[in-house]
Amino acid sequence: MSTSFFEQLMQEHREWEEERRIDDARARADRALAAANEHALDASLAVQRLEQRLAGQARQLKALRAVVGVLTTMLKESGAVDGAMLDLRLEAAVANSEEEIERAVTVACQRCGAQVDRRRTVVTGAGTVCDRCHAAG
Ligand SMILES: [Zn+2]
Repeated sequence: MSTSFFEQLMQEHREWEEERRIDDARARADRALAAANEHALDASLAVQRLEQRLAGQARQLKALRAVVGVLTTMLKESGAVDGAMLDLRLEAAVANSEEEIERAVTVACQRCGAQVDRRRTVVTGAGTVCDRCHAAG
């Protein structure tokens, strides 16, 4: 059965429409993929910055430990202080600072500004954010 010119024209138009829809869908998928890749890159950069900050803090902590160690040893060796008393005072000071940290249970969310329980926060590359903001993305 032969098709009329009109039927053939309509068939070509439908095929063209179909191709256009496929191209549109492909373009939307490409844009969505590019956006997802950008978000993944942002997250990966944030984690990288956090890791660099942690490594920096670990280096500072190590340096401070070395300084405190040298100072206490020199003080004890010089006889300027009672070694046992110095150890006791240092232990008490460390215990006090740990208590202070435990008491500071609320922190400000870096995104919404709310004061929230520290245990209900997440540390991100952009700072400490509350669970609600973190879940919102
Ligand atoms: Zn928040």
